[in-house]
Amino acid sequence: MKQPNYHLTRVIDTQTVTPNMQRLTLQSDAFADFPAECEGGYIKLLFDKVGSTDLSGLAEGERPVMRTYTIRRFMPDQQQIEVDMVRHQIEQTNCGFAARWALNAQVVDTINIAGPGTIAPINQDADWFFMAADMTALPALSAKIKTLPRDAKGYAVVQLDIAEDASTTRRPRGHGDYMADHPYVGRDGKGTALVCWASVCVVCL
Ligand SMILES: Cc1cc2nc3c(=O)[nH]c(=O)nc-3n(C[C@H](O)[C@H](O)[C@H](O)COP(=O)(O)OP(=O)(O)OC[C@H]3O[C@@H](n4cnc5c(N)ncnc54)[C@H](O)[C@@H]3O)c2cc1C
Repeated sequence: MKQPNYHLTRVIDTQTVTPNMQRLTLQSDAFADFPAECEGGYIKLLFDKVGSTDLSGLAEGERPVMRTYTIRRFMPDQQQIEVDMVRHQIEQTNCGFAARWALNAQVVDTINIAGPGTIAPINQDADWFFMAADMTALPALSAKIKTLPRDAKGYAVVQLDIAEDASTTRRPRGHGDYMADHPYVGRDGKGTALVCWASVCVVCL
């Protein structure tokens, strides 16, 4: 039986925003009750044990398979959230449910979610900020970096396979006009990039 705290959501948009990132926009009446500051928090995408989003076959008391994803953007007026999902290519059929769903989801598809959950807030009074992330943490980093004060100073180090994947990263408030990209090739020969704006830099390794 479906648990009462699961919310049915509908895919209203899906875009490949960079070569390795798929952006899903989900809509649900349940988002009306999400707190205004839920960006950077997370939801759980729910599957059955073979990776289907149809939970009607779950036995009484059986927990669905859960995968955690960040609320990158919250649009309360439209009751929508944006979720950036890494386009992992996973061959095994007994795992990779979420990545496979992200690659194949179509507008009007539905999926149950649980949440939202919260992560620790950033100390806004810090003199300097240092953030580190891989691709899967880029949505959380982007949501949090957006909340930094105008005069924030610091660095974010993001591990990427290719520099284009950095383009989903947000800047702190008021820094949008100053961004400059400086492509840079790392010692491993992979494409890497140093992305700077004003007093905050994102280094992509
Ligand atoms: C708080 C939180 C927020 C998150 N937010 C996001 C988000 O916004 N976007 C996003 O894309 N991911 C996010 N993740 C990571 C995501 O939950 C995992 O990558 C998840 O395991 C993917 O589920 P899956 O069903 O596709 O793969 P799984 O069935 O869990 O794993 C399949 C295979 O892929 C491998 N694998 C899974 N994740 C990774 C990884 N990160 N690196 C290398 N190999 C991996 C596994 O070892 C396994 O071999 C978040 C995780 C947490 C804890």
